Amino acid sequence: VVPFKVRQKVDAVIVGAGISGAIVAESLSACGLRVVVIDRRAPVTGSTLASTALLQYEIDIPLSLLSKQVGRNRAERLWRRSRMAVDALRQRVRSLDIRCDMTARDSLYLEGDVLDADGLEVETGARRRAGFEVQLLDKQAVQNRFGIRGRAALLSYDNLCANPRKLALGFLNRACKHGALVHSPLTVESVEPGSTDVTVVTERGDLRAKSVIFATGYELPKGVPRKGHSLNSTWVLATKPQRLSSLWDGECLIWEASEPYLYLRVTTDRRVICGGEDEDFVNEELRDALMPDKVSRLEKKLAKLLPRIDPRADYTWCGTFGSATTGTPSIGRVPGMPHCYAVLGYGGNGITFSMLAAQLLTNLLQGRGDADADLYAFSRKF
Ligand SMILES: Cc1cc2nc3c(=O)[nH]c(=O)nc-3n(C[C@H](O)[C@H](O)[C@H](O)COP(=O)(O)OP(=O)(O)OC[C@H]3O[C@@H](n4cnc5c(N)ncnc54)[C@H](O)[C@@H]3O)c2cc1C
Repeated sequence: VVPFKVRQKVDAVIVGAGISGAIVAESLSACGLRVVVIDRRAPVTGSTLASTALLQYEIDIPLSLLSKQVGRNRAERLWRRSRMAVDALRQRVRSLDIRCDMTARDSLYLEGDVLDADGLEVETGARRRAGFEVQLLDKQAVQNRFGIRGRAALLSYDNLCANPRKLALGFLNRACKHGALVHSPLTVESVEPGSTDVTVVTERGDLRAKSVIFATGYELPKGVPRKGHSLNSTWVLATKPQRLSSLWDGECLIWEASEPYLYLRVTTDRRVICGGEDEDFVNEELRDALMPDKVSRLEKKLAKLLPRIDPRADYTWCGTFGSATTGTPSIGRVPGMPHCYAVLGYGGNGITFSMLAAQLLTNLLQGRGDADADLYAFSRKF
């Protein structure tokens, strides 16, 4: 164990080397800040490794329903900021030349128990009013184009998918090129905020930082408010590479207006990844024990939805992620812990929100402020 240099002080310590820590580290170090990333495990072995990486701007809570929950103005701002985050992710990956199999994909949102066909019509109006381009497809159009029977759907544009491991490692590598340091495996045992900086306590000694950012995924750090946040488990299968040259129109991302919902995408080697069956997280043993039952359900649902494809699982896995009642994360200063920031409660759009966190935190740490900081603040009242 090599101890840290005594009195070493950096601009920012980021706790967690998943996709959130990686994108935030790249963004801050590109601005010239001295950044240290610490992870108790190897980098990119948390939720990020399990992610199915559908990179969508559409938030888990439909715009029409979120408007009722938080007011139309706030709901539209949340949706627009999410759109901007996906666009920023695409541009940043391109400009940094990160090779992560990033592919442009539209997305198909099928009617379900949260929004039926009439609900989708209302949702179409809400999204169009907010400036989003969407197309409402009736059951016949969905069957003709996608081979899915008996479901109306909403088609929206310009989303992405990627290999999440390559994406996160790409950002982490670029951060290191800008001068960031990664220490792993190393656990941050505690942080002690002072009047001008924070002391980060580890078994390799203490590190002093102007700011600390918790990007610890579903392992919520002590002192960070949890109100409105919960942990969920989700199960996933990947089929064998499919033989058909085209699986459905545009091979768009597919998900449902249901609770919980099924989510699907096609990989570059033509496997169909299908996840869902989400449940509240109890513990890892119980989550892993449910795997055979969950996979069998996923296979059946996939076969029913897309009868032309071979639904049998070739790989299976599961994972845990945090979510919030608004389907949007908390990002910002931790109340009562000076110089400490946290990002948590990502839901199904975790990677989109990792990019959003990088934009927001870079603005806050650079002293520029961010016009949308109130939407994600831990102190928000909605
Ligand atoms: C199966 C599955 C499918 C998903 N599908 C999608 C999807 O399609 N699209 C999407 O956008 N999102 C999806 N998500 C969500 C998304 O993957 C997560 O939101 C995202 O990966 C979280 O990244 P993170 O960096 O915040 O957390 P993680 O990747 O979990 O990284 C956190 C890191 O913090 C470290 N850490 C924790 N505590 C400490 C400590 N005290 N000291 C040091 N290190 C510490 C951990 O070791 C870990 O490496 C999915 C998640 C799962 C599980």
